Amino acid sequence: MSALPPLDPPPLDPPFDGPSVPANGHGKVDWASVRADFPLLLREVHGKPLIYFDNANTGQKPACVIEAVDGYYRRHNANVSRAVHQLGTEATEAYEGTRRKLARFLNVRADELVLCSGTTFAINLVAYSWALPRLGPGDTILVSRMEHHANIVPWQIVAERTGATVRVAEIVEDGTLDLEALRRAMTADVKLLAVTHVSNVLGTVNPVREICREARRHGIVTVVDGSQAVPHRRVDIAAIGCDFYAFTGHKMCGPTGTGALWARREHLEAMPPFLGGGEMIKEVAFGGTVYNDPPQRFEAGTPNIAGFAGLGAAVDYLERLGMDHIEQREAALLAHLTQALGTIDGLRILGAAPDKAAVVSFLVEGAHAHDLATLLDLEGVAVRSGQHCAHPLLQFYGVAATCRASPAFYNTHDEIDAFVAALRKVRRLLG
Ligand code: PLP
Repeated sequence: MSALPPLDPPPLDPPFDGPSVPANGHGKVDWASVRADFPLLLREVHGKPLIYFDNANTGQKPACVIEAVDGYYRRHNANVSRAVHQLGTEATEAYEGTRRKLARFLNVRADELVLCSGTTFAINLVAYSWALPRLGPGDTILVSRMEHHANIVPWQIVAERTGATVRVAEIVEDGTLDLEALRRAMTADVKLLAVTHVSNVLGTVNPVREICREARRHGIVTVVDGSQAVPHRRVDIAAIGCDFYAFTGHKMCGPTGTGALWARREHLEAMPPFLGGGEMIKEVAFGGTVYNDPPQRFEAGTPNIAGFAGLGAAVDYLERLGMDHIEQREAALLAHLTQALGTIDGLRILGAAPDKAAVVSFLVEGAHAHDLATLLDLEGVAVRSGQHCAHPLLQFYGVAATCRASPAFYNTHDEIDAFVAALRKVRRLLG
C-alpha cells in the first residue's frame, strides 16, 4: 500500500538543503558533496561507473529538484490561476514563485518573463508573434553560422512567409564570430539579429553585450539564445541589452519541458498572442475576445506546473552553489579535458575561442564519431555524436559529424582521465 501524503504540507519554498557550500574548510566548494546531490550519477552503465559527459544536451538533476517535483504532486497539485481553493493558490504560488526566482537570477522584471517549454518554443514565439507581422520583402534577418537549428529554422519559416531574406553572419576558423564582418552586415535592411550566447558545438562564448549594443545603434532587434549560457555562468540579461533572450530549464538542473523567453516589455505589449485558449484571455465573447496582459497573454493552456516547481528548486540550487563557483569549476575541467585530449594522436578539436564554455567537439582520424560514441558507451561514457542540431556549422568545417564531450560542475577530474583512457582504448579497437 502506498504511503499517505503528510497531513501538514511543508511550506512551498522549503529551506534549501542542497550542496554544502563552501564546505571543505578552506573556503572552497566541496565538489564531492555537490556531486552526491545527483542521484543518477551513482548508476552504472554496461557494468561500468557512469561518466556523464553529455551535459550540453541535457543536465542531470539534484535531489532537491526531483523532490520539488515529487512534493508538488504529493502535496500541492491543482491548476494555476483558476481555482480559489487552497491547492489552487499553492499551485499558482509554485508557478509564479519560479517566475520571480528566474527574474532575480537573471536580473530582469518578472512581468517580462514568459514561461514556456524551453528555448525552441521561446524563439518560435518571437518568430510568430514579433517577426511575422512586421517583416516583409526587402527585410533581412541576420543569423549567425553557429546557431542551433532552434535559432535558424524559425527564421527560415518567417522568411518563407514574409518574403524577407535570411543572411548568415559568418565565423572564422577558431570558431569565433567574424565581428568585423558582422558589423559591416548591419545594413539598413536588417531588422533582426539572431545570435547564440554560447555555442552548443564549439563552446564559443560570444560577446553578446557588444553585439547587441552595435545592433541597437542600427535599430536592429536582437534575439539571444541563452540555452548554453544560463547553466554555466552568471547571466545578467539587463546588462546584455538585447531585445529577447531565450533559455531552457533542463540544461540548468531543472526538469524537461521548462524554460522562458525574456522580452522587453514594450515588445510584449505590442505582440499578438501566439496560441489561443485558457489563461491568455481577460474576456471571451463570440463578438470578440480581450486578450490578457503579457506575460500571461503568451501562456495559453495549463502549463508544466510541476516542472516549474522543479525549476524553482534548480534556481535555488544554482544560486546557493554560486554561478561564479560553477564557472571556475567548469573552466578547470575544460582546461584539463583540452590538455588530455591534446595527447591523443590524430584528434582534432573544433573551436578554440579565447572565451569558451566546457563543450569540446572533436574528431579522431580514421574513426567515425558514431562508432566512437557507441564504443565509449560500452565503457560507461556518455558523449553525444552527430551534428548537434547545427548542420550549417558542421558544413563550415566540412565535417559530417563530431563527438562532443561536455562536462558539468559535478563531473570530476578523475572522470576526465578515465574518459581519455577509454577513448584511447576504443580508438585501438577501431584500428
Ligand atoms: N539552442 C541551443 C544552443 C541548444 O543547445 C539547444 C538544445 O540543445 C536549444 C537551443 C534547444 O533547446 P530546447 O530543445 O530545450 O528547446
